[in-house]
Amino acid sequence: MAPGQYTDVGNGRAEGTWQRCHACRDSAPHHAADTAGGVGFTMPAGSSVSTGGRVKVFFDTEFTGLHQHTTLISIGLIAEDGSTFYAELTDYDKSQVDDWLRENVINNLLGLELNAPAALPPDCYCGDTKTIARKLERWLSQLSTKDAAFGDRRNYEPNNTPQKIEMWSDCLSYDWVLFCQLWGHAFNIPKNVYYIPFDICTLFKVRGIDPDISREEFAGLDTNGQKHNALWDAKVIKACYERLQGAE
Ligand SMILES: [Mg+2]
Repeated sequence: MAPGQYTDVGNGRAEGTWQRCHACRDSAPHHAADTAGGVGFTMPAGSSVSTGGRVKVFFDTEFTGLHQHTTLISIGLIAEDGSTFYAELTDYDKSQVDDWLRENVINNLLGLELNAPAALPPDCYCGDTKTIARKLERWLSQLSTKDAAFGDRRNYEPNNTPQKIEMWSDCLSYDWVLFCQLWGHAFNIPKNVYYIPFDICTLFKVRGIDPDISREEFAGLDTNGQKHNALWDAKVIKACYERLQGAE
């Protein structure tokens, strides 16, 4: 989906002013800032990936199949400061679980329904979609907050506004839809989440690296880790991003 809608001047090129945005229902000033000039924008020397001061969160999901009726089994997130969130859903469609999913995904769940909370890292939850959405919204809000628990003005801009959260995943077509679906609609995701998601697949390609490589090997992580556990995979995505950003 295009992030915005242009005024077409009739020569086949999109030029002119931003109009109302399909994605966030915002208008010109918002996009003028986010696109750093829009049409005519010139890549800066070195072409490093600028994130405009946003807080990066790396995330991964596990779900019940690569089709439009898929449902969310688990979600893992790790912020750039290392804080994590992990949840297992109780209301995914169990009738969609096949042998591959059982062996590779279900077997790598932490079993939060059975494990004692004390044995788990903080911010690990098990519940239905509404419960997990509420927990995740609270966790995301803490990433740019004045909450004393995180120190004053954590991830706040000098003008006293909270920084947006920038979501990064791997091949994120399904991940992003399922993330949004936690709140029922992309328009309902937490307000501090930037509405454009990003992915390391594209970053690999831009860097001239085949995106179809082992993420763990690239990041120098244990290849016998908990692949297909959403939190582990999110950590791998973060490690890849950091190496990609440092590999100029
Ligand atoms: Mg995964």
